[in-house]
Amino acid sequence: MEMENTGKVVTRFAPSPTGHMHAGSYRTAFFAYLFAKRHDGKFILRIEDTDKERSKEEYTQEIFNVFEKIGISYDEKYIQSENLERHKEVLQKLISEDKAYISREEAKDGSGIIKDIIRFRNPGKSVTFDDLIRGPITTDTTDLGDFVLAKNIDEPLFHLAVVVDDHDEGVNHVIRAEEHIANTPRQILIHEALGFDIPKYAHLPLVLAPDKTKMSKRKGAIPVVDYLDMGYLPEALLNAICLCGWNPGTEQEIFSREELEKVFDLDKVQKAGAVFGQDKLDWFNREYIKKLSQKEFWDIAHHGLYGSIVNDTEEDREILKKLEPLIRERMTKFSDMQNFFGKADGSTVGEFDYFFVKPKIDLSMLIWKGLKIENPSDSDGWIKKTKEYLKEIHSRLEKLENWDYESIKASIWDYAEQEGRGAVLWPMRVALSGREKSPDPFEISSILGKEETLKRLK
Ligand code: GLU
Repeated sequence: MEMENTGKVVTRFAPSPTGHMHAGSYRTAFFAYLFAKRHDGKFILRIEDTDKERSKEEYTQEIFNVFEKIGISYDEKYIQSENLERHKEVLQKLISEDKAYISREEAKDGSGIIKDIIRFRNPGKSVTFDDLIRGPITTDTTDLGDFVLAKNIDEPLFHLAVVVDDHDEGVNHVIRAEEHIANTPRQILIHEALGFDIPKYAHLPLVLAPDKTKMSKRKGAIPVVDYLDMGYLPEALLNAICLCGWNPGTEQEIFSREELEKVFDLDKVQKAGAVFGQDKLDWFNREYIKKLSQKEFWDIAHHGLYGSIVNDTEEDREILKKLEPLIRERMTKFSDMQNFFGKADGSTVGEFDYFFVKPKIDLSMLIWKGLKIENPSDSDGWIKKTKEYLKEIHSRLEKLENWDYESIKASIWDYAEQEGRGAVLWPMRVALSGREKSPDPFEISSILGKEETLKRLK
């Protein structure tokens, strides 16, 4: 199956499904995709699963899944192992033209086994290619010797498979990671030996971990699929990953997929390695969370709420709506929901549980520490005072008609100023929330509603 050359840009992403893929690998994918889109071209996904021992179906499925969630589509999809017959045919052709040969060699593992290895007859010349990011790169291929093309006639290896597939699929722009620079001269020699057009190459600089070393699975790089599972938004991930080592030369940082498809190009990819940091991703995600409509927000958030203390009732939904701004301010990703709402069975505790279940109040916590400092031994006095404050707050709020933050605050503020803010507002906060830390008590009251606030104060 050979495709005709239409002059259209054709790129591909060719992952080996041998493990979970992190942001560095997906950046290669997204850049190849965006370059194709920008140039009205075609983007191919090719799963390079010829290493049977290390390739796993689950990793292939994971790649499809991440592409789908992030909204990256491909025009064609290939599974490399399905092209084995074609690879063998090309191998035979090279042998019959004496551009490759069978070499009887003893296995390197010391087992004494003799194998028929297929080697490339290297013309041993200087190969130059004009890398789209780095400029011309020249290699004297003599040093590479007669490199191996296949373990045997039935098992072609990486270089041969890549060259044949790129050619057959019409790929004319190979955009891939820097680590493949060393492979390119070999692959160009194979292209030449077969009389294939040589694609253009762009080798992307490294994606670095925050410690400026190469991002790697071994060093704990988080798989992109895990970020999705944690409730990072797909658009935020795409944006954060694409802004790693690329920007359009302006201050703009927030780009939708559609915008990226219009403005991305390889000439703005920086030559130095770029850091992919969690902080930056968190920043992007918070920006995208801010932009979600209320409906979008709860469509995503409510998944995390099953089994929590929030019930699917009109009442709880009302409270949730009011809590929404507080939650958005405090969250980075949707799995943070579990920090706000504990489990229904009490096995975990959430920051905002008291909005849904009455808190248990530790009575000694109600007393403002300032009272104790003023009169260390007068515990009857502290209790009396605290009761007085709560009573006064209760009576002021009871008379209040407009139940909103500003009105609640206005009705109590002068009293708090007069008696001491801590002394008055502390017991109010504790009575309403049972906590030492919470949003301010006016905020809590406005969300709880008048009836519930008065009950708790009482
Ligand atoms: N399958 C190779 C890898 O995962 C990429 C090959 C290529 O892009 O040429 O590293």
